[in-house]
Amino acid sequence: MSECIFCKIIKGEIPAQKVYDDKDVVGFLDIMPIALGHTLIVPKKHCRDVFDTPENTFSRMANAAKLVAVAVRNATRADGIHIGMNNGGAAGQSVFHAHIHVIPRFSADGFTHWPKTKVSSDELVQMGEQIQNALHNLREL
Ligand code: AMP
Ligand code: ZN
Repeated sequence: MSECIFCKIIKGEIPAQKVYDDKDVVGFLDIMPIALGHTLIVPKKHCRDVFDTPENTFSRMANAAKLVAVAVRNATRADGIHIGMNNGGAAGQSVFHAHIHVIPRFSADGFTHWPKTKVSSDELVQMGEQIQNALHNLREL
C-alpha cells in the first residue's frame, strides 16, 4: 500500500528505530509511546487488522511480540508488559496496517484498568453459546 506509513517504514522510505527484523515481521519503537520502549510488531506484508492477517503471519507476529516483550522488560526494567492490538476505529486503531503493541508498564505509571461491567450468569451463558456457534460456523467454512 503506497500511502501506508508502516509500509513506508518497512521499505525504508521513512525512518524508524527498528529493534527487531525477520523475514516476515519487523519491530520498531512507537514514535509517540505510552512509555519509552513501547514497540510495535508489524507484518512486512500489508494487512489491515487481525481479521485481514493470515494465521501464519499472525503466529509470526505473536512469536516476535513474546520475544520483544522479554527484551523490552529487560531493557526498560519494567514491572510489567502490556501486549495488545487495536482492531478497527472503534477499538482505537489509527494506523490501518496491523500491529501488536508491546508496552512497558510500571507500578507507579498511574494507568488504571479498563472499566468492567456487571453481567448476569444468563448473559454469560447466552454469549458463550453465541461465540461457540460462531466458532463452529467458522470451522465449517
Ligand atoms: P493504533 O492506535 O493501535 O493504530 O496505534 C498506532 C500507533 O502507531 C500509535 O501508537 C502511534 O504513536 C504510532 N505511530 C504512528 N506513526 C508512527 C511512526 N511514523 N513511527 C512509529 N510509530 C508511529
Ligand atoms: Zn501498510
